[in-house]
Amino acid sequence: LSGENEHLSQSDREIEKALRPLSFDDFTGQYKIVENLKIFVSAAKKRGESLDHVLLHGPPGLGKTTLSNIIANELESNIKITSGPVLDKPSDLAGLLTNLDDGDVLFIDEIHRLNPIVEEYLYSAMEDFRIDIMLDSGPNARTVQISLNPFTLIGATTRSGLLTSPLRARFGINARLEYYDAKLLTTIVSRSAHILNTPIDEIAAYEIARRSRGTPRIANNLLRRTRDFAEIKGNGKITLEISKIALNALDVDENGLDEMDNRILLTIIEKFKGGPVGLGTIATACSEEAETIEEVYEPFLIQEGYLKRTSRGRMATELAYKHLNIKSNFGGAT
Ligand code: ADP
Repeated sequence: LSGENEHLSQSDREIEKALRPLSFDDFTGQYKIVENLKIFVSAAKKRGESLDHVLLHGPPGLGKTTLSNIIANELESNIKITSGPVLDKPSDLAGLLTNLDDGDVLFIDEIHRLNPIVEEYLYSAMEDFRIDIMLDSGPNARTVQISLNPFTLIGATTRSGLLTSPLRARFGINARLEYYDAKLLTTIVSRSAHILNTPIDEIAAYEIARRSRGTPRIANNLLRRTRDFAEIKGNGKITLEISKIALNALDVDENGLDEMDNRILLTIIEKFKGGPVGLGTIATACSEEAETIEEVYEPFLIQEGYLKRTSRGRMATELAYKHLNIKSNFGGAT
């Protein structure tokens, strides 16, 4: 999501940069994807060709941008970074494409939000490494063809379902990133703490990890805030006790659900009798955008078993009632 990092302060931004893995071997988890990418990258390098276009999808904060930078590093190529909503006109895209060197990577975040006209220009660029540019308009209109250096497009999206099929078909490599389990996130938290020179008990790293919604970005954010607590309330070391104090103060509950997760569940249960209720209605009742609920909150709540998507709308599960300590009517059903 575009807004994800906007609230970060300057120092948080610098820390975030320092924590970003730079090579495949630094990147924890997503093993199958990484193993495949390693092979595709080596093969492309060996043949002296550009890597096939790559589509990365999955919820925000799982490492799509990080992986794209790593791919460029491993290809020993430059990377240019842009996003779907920023490419307003075909000329914006043409400007970027004509500046790419042989084998460079063009990263387009939120590629499902490309303007359809721009998207059409992308087709020939991806397929034949050329673009047709329209000069003038009216009776003087003519097109000129510009050939491009072979490049690799990496598209990232939180909503692969919204990609048009002609665009999807032009990606030779397609990978879906999954949420991380607590063990992998513990490794990531420990690695980050080490880079930040912050001592941390293994059990505290695990506590942060298991309450991070399966997401490295959240794990790193919670680590940074917990480190603040350790420095002010403790002696600088992150212990289990400090991590619990910090996570509770940050409204991350025992199961790792944050305030909005809980608000969504509570709304469905209290205002809509547990559902089914439509996404738009939930969004209005929670004062959050439907798109954000669908991309950020819902996938995790569904994966963890708190929420169900039915043809008539969203429903809270028995687990959601239990979690919120509310009596349910699920009766004897299992
Ligand atoms: P996305 O592009 O999918 O939203 P990012 O690539 O921006 O996610 O990742 C968010 C942050 O999480 C990055 O700053 C990075 O430091 C961290 N991160 C993501 N994946 C990993 C990983 N596998 N190992 C270590 N850190 C990671």
